[in-house]
Amino acid sequence: MRTAQENLVQTHGALLRVGLVLEGICNKCGVCCVGIHEGEQVFCENLEILGELGSPDATMCRIHASRVLNTPIWMLNSVGERVFETICAKDNELETRTILEKGIGRGCSLGVRLICPQIS
Ligand code: SF4
Ligand code: SF4
Repeated sequence: MRTAQENLVQTHGALLRVGLVLEGICNKCGVCCVGIHEGEQVFCENLEILGELGSPDATMCRIHASRVLNTPIWMLNSVGERVFETICAKDNELETRTILEKGIGRGCSLGVRLICPQIS
């Protein structure tokens, strides 16, 4: 049986395939750079937290200008211990999926648009 998160991923994957795009300007709320792992909140090691997550200008990415596709990152727990290694979701489908799952409705300033494919 699939978990709720796997269901979400599948739904978003289907939406992405028919043309779901994000548009607008990131307000740096930071919620797409954090997560929950085994019941514990984890944060990207490059995320500087300046305010309340989910609020505009709450965070800054220390490597934002130098990120490339699949930049490796560690996720840290609340006391700064490395929990697991992953990649920064930049410039690929994973970025859209991550923002949809973690950001939309939780402070993300981006809008979601569905591009309906031409039916011939
Ligand atoms: S490296 Fe990627 S995941 Fe980490 S803070 Fe920067 S944008 Fe967020
Ligand atoms: S959730 Fe949206 S607004 Fe917030 S940091 Fe991520 S992309 Fe930017």
